Amino acid sequence: MEKQNKPNIDQLEIDKFNALAHKWWDSTSEFKPLHDINPLRIEYIKSKINLSGKHILDVGCGGGILSEALAREGGKVTGIDQGEKVIKIAQLHNKESKLDISYKQLNIEEFCKKNKQKFDVITCLEMLEHVPDPSSVIAACASLLKPNGKIFFSTLNRNPKSFLFAIIGAEYILNLLPKGTHAYEKFIKPSELQEWCLNNNLNLLDIIGMSYNPVLKSYKLTKDCSVNYLVEVGL
Ligand code: SAH
Repeated sequence: MEKQNKPNIDQLEIDKFNALAHKWWDSTSEFKPLHDINPLRIEYIKSKINLSGKHILDVGCGGGILSEALAREGGKVTGIDQGEKVIKIAQLHNKESKLDISYKQLNIEEFCKKNKQKFDVITCLEMLEHVPDPSSVIAACASLLKPNGKIFFSTLNRNPKSFLFAIIGAEYILNLLPKGTHAYEKFIKPSELQEWCLNNNLNLLDIIGMSYNPVLKSYKLTKDCSVNYLVEVGL
């Protein structure tokens, strides 16, 4: 019952992102980690599917760091985000970039109701850990995917190491992210993500980790999925 009546939105989370939206494209700001991991995410996605000419939906697109990179690879991108200021920043930035992207201020459940188009590729990166019910986002993504399409999710694993690295390390010691960016209890184990995918006839095809080296101050793709990870999902 609750699922049907209440939108799947945590307004405090949306407010947090809206308040910082003007800094989204400053690669030295709170969004530095997203700028830094973006080439790795694109490299991974491109290794799984050719993006040229594909219809791509970027869910929780924020200011458009990933959406723009996907469009630069030849994708026809639709970016959706619940944040009003966030979407305005994304639209403004693309006025200069002039890429094939259409941004809409919507959450995925609403988008599903209004949209009948299906997508070749759906990306939903660093967003599931900010919503009350991630399984509802996954179900909505599944309903929008073309039969041969691919979905990419990324999020944070939930275990003592991820608490230490993603919260204590990133927010309190290295100051990579503002304090309070992430809530440990919202982190998602790959097994939970897999179960939600299977409930929607989606198979987890591949999983890869992303790790941060504080000495080199750089990220890399790794087999270790204990903190940040990215998955490829298909029907
Ligand atoms: N996917 C982007 C941005 C990640 S930040 C990237 O990885 O570069 C998380 C984004 O999710 C924020 O922009 C926030 O506004 C958005 N978000 C959080 N809850 C949402 C919801 N319920 N519906 C749509 N967007 C949401």
